[in-house]
Amino acid sequence: MSEILDLSHVTLSDRPLIVCDVDDVVLNFAAPFQDFLRESGHELLPRSFRLTGNIVSIATQEAMAELEVKRTIGAFFEAQETWQTPFDRVGETLESLAEDADVLFLTAMPPRFQEARRRLLDRLGLTFPLIASEAPKGPIMKRLHAERALPSVFIDDMAHNLHSVRDHVSDSLIIHMMPDSPLHLLAPKPDDSIVRAMDWPHAGELINTHIGRASSR
Ligand SMILES: [Mg+2]
Repeated sequence: MSEILDLSHVTLSDRPLIVCDVDDVVLNFAAPFQDFLRESGHELLPRSFRLTGNIVSIATQEAMAELEVKRTIGAFFEAQETWQTPFDRVGETLESLAEDADVLFLTAMPPRFQEARRRLLDRLGLTFPLIASEAPKGPIMKRLHAERALPSVFIDDMAHNLHSVRDHVSDSLIIHMMPDSPLHLLAPKPDDSIVRAMDWPHAGELINTHIGRASSR
């Protein structure tokens, strides 16, 4: 299924571009999703880096079927405003960076959950433009930025997204950020060339250096 991605709500200025994933970078996903599962008598067993096969009934330990896993993730995204919370210092860090750069959120979720995500981000003061797409992130970032002679930054928790942007946009600062959830500790590791930020203040320092801006802290 090809998706025609509408980017008409995104207007970039002649400043550096910072593109930022949302789940498990800006908003917690892994931790609240497990709380959400427990409400329906399920738990996530960190046996491998996938949800299907590892979500089991607490009572019987029977694994949830694939279709039901999809439905459950959808139900979580529908209820995200009740469940998802921001990471420490994300708001103040992005706000400070936005004084000298354009900030965009690029979230890999079905576009039908975009409105709930928009409301939640707005409520948290994270009013930067949002793109919701399940298409590979590298080509999207290339479409946004590739012809511009300005610094760019991409932040994500998933190796395949980090590699996708590295392979499509030259000279971008690619930053790996992830929570130390049991599931993430099983995730494929990004290549050694990709820098890891331990938290938002650290990410802010790396970004300030890359875009040639004195740290405001
Ligand atoms: Mg993510």
